[in-house]
Amino acid sequence: MINPVPKAELHLHIEGTLEPELALSLAARNGLALPYASADELRAAYEFADLRSFLNLYYRLMEVLRTEDDFADLADAYLERAAAQGVRHAEIFFDPQAHTGRGVPLEAVLGGLGRALTGAAGRHGVTTRLILCFLRDEPVSSALATFEAARPWFGTLITGVGLDSAEVGHPPAAFRAVYDLARDAGLHLVAHAGEEGPPEYVTEALDVLGVQRIDHGIRSMEDPALVARLVREQVPLTVCPLSNVRLRCVERLADHPLPAMLEAGLLVTVNSDDPSYFGGYAGDNFDAVRRELGLGEAELRRLAANSFRASFLPQEDKDAYLKEVAAHDFG
Ligand SMILES: [Zn+2]
Repeated sequence: MINPVPKAELHLHIEGTLEPELALSLAARNGLALPYASADELRAAYEFADLRSFLNLYYRLMEVLRTEDDFADLADAYLERAAAQGVRHAEIFFDPQAHTGRGVPLEAVLGGLGRALTGAAGRHGVTTRLILCFLRDEPVSSALATFEAARPWFGTLITGVGLDSAEVGHPPAAFRAVYDLARDAGLHLVAHAGEEGPPEYVTEALDVLGVQRIDHGIRSMEDPALVARLVREQVPLTVCPLSNVRLRCVERLADHPLPAMLEAGLLVTVNSDDPSYFGGYAGDNFDAVRRELGLGEAELRRLAANSFRASFLPQEDKDAYLKEVAAHDFG
């Protein structure tokens, strides 16, 4: 990796940072049996046909996360790796329903994540935000109940809501009520849209949910009028190149629309999504697009600057990071 440029990571599922070694050690700590004898055997299972097949393994492995310590260790391991790849600020997703649905109390999830995130600036030099994601393939009633249960952490630990999991057949508009409540509670609003789903889902997320950022959004490129709007309104898109290839949204990295998105003037950022499953962290994604898409220093600098612009940091912090990006020596 070349000297990693300072960057913000805006599309990162903490559950997707579970490395095989940690999964096995947490399974042992919690007295659980996984059907994999070694980290290598488990890593070999990380081959997916599509989003659904990835999610099956993803939810299966999540079962090793049980206690507050497990969530703290998970987040701490991510922050250490991210920091080593130039991440200075991370806006981290978590999926409470994936844990409460299997009997893990929300207090354990948020206690552990809170402990890791609170110390992150001191320990890793990474500032953080936490974004609660609703599972779009679960009923809206479950999202509403989750939202209410998480209220005690709003504004302190939780600063935004998002929408994730299997996209096709689950358009954003169904979640309007819970997004309206989140807006009233002063939370930031984001949603996955246009990953596997059509460009119409992106428009719906903007117009019905009122989101401030679109997670993924690559299929927006199929609709020139939507692209023009996203450029005009400078709606950030949190693109995840290695994820798109691993989940077969894009055949090969060399075919990825990222250069065309930059060329169009979109406020596009590069992120890792579920790095332990998709072959790399934020810096690895930057390296991959440099190598495979021929992006030069000017484009990498622009992607890094975009990541801070698109973040929920206060303006003075953005300005400080933008200065660092402008002065960065790629070595
Ligand atoms: Zn995602």
